[in-house]
Amino acid sequence: MAKDIITRILHADRLGSVEHGAVLKPLHIATAYGYSTAEELTAVFQGERSGHVYGRQGNPTTAVLETKISLMEDAVGTVCFATGMAAICSTMMALLKKGDHVVASRFLFGNTASWMNTLTQMGCEVSLVDATQAAHVQAALRPETRLVFVETVANPRTQVADLEGIGKLCAQHGLLYVVDSTMSTPHLFQPKAVGASLVMHSLSKSICGHGNALGGSISDTGLFDWSRYPHLLPAYRKGPPTTWGLLQIRKKGLRDMGATLSAEHGHRIAAGAETLSLRMERACSNARALAEWLQAQPLVSKVHYPGLASHAQHARAKALFKDFGALLSFETVDGVDPSEVLNALELVIKSSHLGDNRTSALPVARTIFWEMGAEQRASMEIADSLIRVSVGIESREDLLADFGQAFGRLAQRG
Ligand SMILES: *Cc1c(COP(=O)(O)O)cnc(C)c1O
Repeated sequence: MAKDIITRILHADRLGSVEHGAVLKPLHIATAYGYSTAEELTAVFQGERSGHVYGRQGNPTTAVLETKISLMEDAVGTVCFATGMAAICSTMMALLKKGDHVVASRFLFGNTASWMNTLTQMGCEVSLVDATQAAHVQAALRPETRLVFVETVANPRTQVADLEGIGKLCAQHGLLYVVDSTMSTPHLFQPKAVGASLVMHSLSKSICGHGNALGGSISDTGLFDWSRYPHLLPAYRKGPPTTWGLLQIRKKGLRDMGATLSAEHGHRIAAGAETLSLRMERACSNARALAEWLQAQPLVSKVHYPGLASHAQHARAKALFKDFGALLSFETVDGVDPSEVLNALELVIKSSHLGDNRTSALPVARTIFWEMGAEQRASMEIADSLIRVSVGIESREDLLADFGQAFGRLAQRG
C-alpha cells in the first residue's frame, strides 16, 4: 500500500463500482434503498449480503468516506457520525455499562471533559489522570476498567500523552485503547503505531479543513481482541472478531442513537481530505514560525507548542509525529489582558473553530473552558490569560505581520 495517506485516498472513490465513469463518488441523497426481491432485502437486513437499507445507518457516499479514513489510519473499518462528539458519545454508550470504569486523560477537549461527567451520572466511574505519564494511568486501573481514552495532543494546552507507554499498558491488561487523534491528523501520526484499538477524529477540523461541514469518525485498527470484550451482544459476534466491535458501534451507537453524518457533509469532508497533507504542511510550518516569534515577545510569558524545545514533551512529539501540528497556545504577562491581544489582531478571526484554513484564536478560560469553573481549569493547566491559536494556511508573512502590529500597539499603549 502507498505510504502517503493522500496517495492512498485519492483514488478511493473508484475502488468499487464506478457510476458513469465518475471520478468522484456521487452524492447519494436517498433515504432508503430498494431491492428487486424480498429475499435480497432480507439478506441485506440479516447481514448475509452487503448493502444499504436506511440512511440513518449509512449511505454509499458516507461509505466511501469511511473507506478513505480506514486507508488513512490503516484500519479494518470506520464508522462516521454527525460530529466528533457524536462519535465519542455513541461509541462509549454502545460499549460501556453501568459499573464500568474509564481512565481518561485530564487534558481533554472541553466538551469531552463535560461528557465524562455525564458518563459518571449514568453509573460509570471515570478517573481523570495526567496522561503524559503511563504510570498515572497504571495507578488508576481497576478490575472494572474497560477503556482508556486520551488525546494525542491535548487541545488547547498541547500536552502530548504518553501514547506508547499507555499503548503497552493497555495491551498488557487487555484494555480498549481509544485515541482522539483530531489534533495530530493522519498526516502527522497513526495511533495504530502505538497500539490504539480505536482511533477517533473530529472530521470538522483539519480533515475537512474548510470549515464547511461537521463530522466525526471511529476507526478500528484491528489490534483489539473483541472476543475478550464482555459487553458484545451475541447478534454482533458474527464473522471475524476484528469486525465485532465496530458492528456493535454501528448498530447500538449510530443506528439506535441516530447521530448520522449527512451525505452532503460527508461529500465535503471527502473533498477537503484530498488536500490534508498540503494544508497541514503549510499550517504546521506557519505554527512553528508563529510559536518561535511569540516566544521572543516581552508581553508573552509562555508559549505552548510541541515543536518548541521548551515544551515538556518535545522529544516525544519529535519521535512520534511527522510534524508538530497547527495548534498552539500562549499566556500573556500580568497586565496584558487576553481580550486586548485578540482585539488588536486584524487578520486573525476571533472564533472557537480549529483546523480551519483561516487562523482563528480565542481566550480559553472565558469561552470554551468557562463552564467548567476555575478549579477544573487549574487541574487542566489552563491559565486565565491563555489564548489558543489554530493556525491556518495564510502566507506566513501576513500572519506574522498581524501579530507584529498587534503586539506593537500593545507595547506602545504603556
Ligand atoms: C472538536 C473536537 C472534538 C469534537 O468534535 P466536533 O466535531 O466539534 O463534535 C473532539 N475532540 C477534539 C480534540 C476536538 O478538537
